[in-house]
Amino acid sequence: MTTEFRHFNGGEPIDAEALGAAVQSHLTYTLGKDAAHATRYDWRMALSYAVRDRITDAWFAATRKTYAEGAKRVYYLSMEFLIGRLLEDALVNLGLADAAEAALKAQGLNLMEVVCDEPDAALGNGGLGRLAACFLESLSTLGCPAMGYGIRYEHGLFRQSFEDGRQVERPEHWLSQQHPWEFERPEARFRLGFGGHVEHVDGRAIWHPAEVVEAEAYDTPIIGWEGKWANTLRLWSAKAVHPFDLGRFNHGDFYGAAEPEALARTISRVLYPDDTTDEGKTLRLKQEFFFTAASLRDILRRFDSEHDDLALLPQKVAIQLNDTHPAIAGPELVRLLHDERGVEFHEAVRLARGCLSYTNHTLLPEALEAWGEGLFAHLLPRHMEIIRRIDEDHAAQYPDRASRILDHGTVRMGELSFLMAHHVNGVSALHTELMKETVFSDLHRLHPERIINQTNGVTPRRWLKSCNGALSDLLTETIGTGWVRDLEQLSRLEPMIGGAGFIEKYAAAKRENKTVFGNWLNEEFNLNVDPDAMFDAQIKRIHEYKRQHLAILQTIADWQAIHDNPNGDWTPRVRIFAGKAAPGYVFAKEIIHLINDVAAVLNADKVTREYLQVVFLPNYNVSLAERIIPASDLSEQISTAGKEASGTGNMKLALNGALTIGTLDGANVEIREHVGAENFFLFGMTAQEVVARREIDGHAGRAIAECPALGRALEAVRSGRFSAGEPDRYRGVVENVSGPDYFLVASDFASYHAKQAEVSAAYRDRDAWARMAAYNTARSGWFSSDRTIGDYMSQIWGAKSLL
Ligand SMILES: *Cc1c(COP(=O)(O)O)cnc(C)c1O
Repeated sequence: MTTEFRHFNGGEPIDAEALGAAVQSHLTYTLGKDAAHATRYDWRMALSYAVRDRITDAWFAATRKTYAEGAKRVYYLSMEFLIGRLLEDALVNLGLADAAEAALKAQGLNLMEVVCDEPDAALGNGGLGRLAACFLESLSTLGCPAMGYGIRYEHGLFRQSFEDGRQVERPEHWLSQQHPWEFERPEARFRLGFGGHVEHVDGRAIWHPAEVVEAEAYDTPIIGWEGKWANTLRLWSAKAVHPFDLGRFNHGDFYGAAEPEALARTISRVLYPDDTTDEGKTLRLKQEFFFTAASLRDILRRFDSEHDDLALLPQKVAIQLNDTHPAIAGPELVRLLHDERGVEFHEAVRLARGCLSYTNHTLLPEALEAWGEGLFAHLLPRHMEIIRRIDEDHAAQYPDRASRILDHGTVRMGELSFLMAHHVNGVSALHTELMKETVFSDLHRLHPERIINQTNGVTPRRWLKSCNGALSDLLTETIGTGWVRDLEQLSRLEPMIGGAGFIEKYAAAKRENKTVFGNWLNEEFNLNVDPDAMFDAQIKRIHEYKRQHLAILQTIADWQAIHDNPNGDWTPRVRIFAGKAAPGYVFAKEIIHLINDVAAVLNADKVTREYLQVVFLPNYNVSLAERIIPASDLSEQISTAGKEASGTGNMKLALNGALTIGTLDGANVEIREHVGAENFFLFGMTAQEVVARREIDGHAGRAIAECPALGRALEAVRSGRFSAGEPDRYRGVVENVSGPDYFLVASDFASYHAKQAEVSAAYRDRDAWARMAAYNTARSGWFSSDRTIGDYMSQIWGAKSLL
């Protein structure tokens, strides 16, 4: 937390005393607590309410201005929002951090401890959900009239812990305490149907759903930088239409009486803990339709309150689909316009397409959503008819089209999204090109102007200003505060990187962050790390394509090499892992277990542990990322080329001065271009080479034969060196890497291993390393989500800033 800001937003000036009084007042009158008995939780709530009050005026002003100007609104539909904590974000964006610190100090409390009392709102799995959260903050910072729409899951992403090194999942109860940031909107409710049948009378379709639930809105204001604008995140909660069956209750059937409510609420009960595979569950499709349909009703209701000509829809409404999860928006909007408002069918399709655009996030075949036609038609019979007509009309128009929405008994949501969107975007330059060549090659040929690229970004408020106080203070002292809003101003550091004064301070800031992090590791996990060792971080979801197993095999090889020559001049390293595996993803869980097993052996090894330690931190989430990133020296971005769509963790780490060791994948390519090839450790095959390598018979076996270090590391795992008493524990991992090895761990090992040796050598020249790190910070300005959102506004949405 930094110190240079006072307050920004237009309301009454507020100092520590006034904020303190507001906190006191909420403590007394909102929470009903006497200061003498107030807990940390009470103080956090009181502070949150006092801060929320400061947001509300800007929020109302933004809404009034949007109506007054008849401005186009952007609607961001996303199944996931990984927002994390909100108090610190609000304090920093309002410039109230100092005032809050002083106000709490007067009560004998520490602001950071109060801030950390807030549970993470983990309504997402990983990168996709975090992107949506960064986008919301940038939309507000840029003053773009916008609204995020999603689901208010009662249980966010599971809480991860380890038992004997194995991942254990427990439900996350983020709502077990009051959530001070949201406003319940009981008046904003919509009824939504599922199932039933469709009746056709006089050319009109009437859907008679078999089941009806209610969606109720909860609004969270999202404040932008300097409190100048605030948009809304509107999350839907499912409720029963008739929550309680008094008749059954009076007959003594108490469970039965509560059943309708329990069933309806199931829809917003849990976040699916898997971001890459289609669970194939009716409930998942229900969730998708539930939040998408409720959002569209809400959008049309708002449109109707301002306009009476539906032809204006594309000029006033931009709807962004974050991946295919809200793809049902296409047919549902057509249904609302055609069936319910009487717009001619083709005109309804044209209007819907004029509003909709779609972001693709993955090329992994198993992650491209497809539903069985039977299941789909059963749940959404009218939508099935509309999709069939859209598909047939398009095929008639383009007779040489090869791919279809309805294909071999499935409904393909990627094709549907493409056909119903005016623009389709990838999330990094490489991913966008691969999208044109692979998943959408056929449709791209027919609609060559539709696919464009929008490389992801991260918000510098959370991912630099508030998470890295030491570096932020140095940046502000050196180039002023403009970088927070205009991150490319970081390039003004460049002339100073050559000289001595700045780089010493830059290195000192990193050293300070590492000490803070090391102390925290000590307090929380009883771990001792040396802040002079290299902190080497691989923090992200656990997935074969992200290749945590490549990193741990390489670690084993290093450990063996140190053992061979314990008096060698080794560069000390702490390898830090964090990340969750989807509960049903057996291989990913084995990787976690293996890393923990390796950590136990290595950390207990008196010969090697001064050079090499392994730490797997449990329960990776936004708050943990905010701790690890400022303290990291090395960023592991080692996915199989062609598989990581963009990555955003890579951007956060580079911005905070970690050097990347990475493949030419996703946004790594652009990071390397920006920071300079000499400040980036590149290894591994390219996406093309990956495809060619897979064609070689026995590619893994050959790679192992050519790389003794890999053979030896695998042998240690195979022999049970890390799983005493159970030598077969990792047979699956070993056999995979030595056999099919689809993700080419073996084939990329030698290149990775050699590059890691270069990294270790480079780290020994601390001055040169600090300069390379500083170039990473100075040249990462382009990766601000403000840049990304500015481009979406001008190139896709046609939306304007109202600031
Ligand atoms: C940034 C972030 C991610 C995305 O990380 P990648 O390395 O891009 O996969 C996932 N989870 C959390 C909590 C994050 O903050």
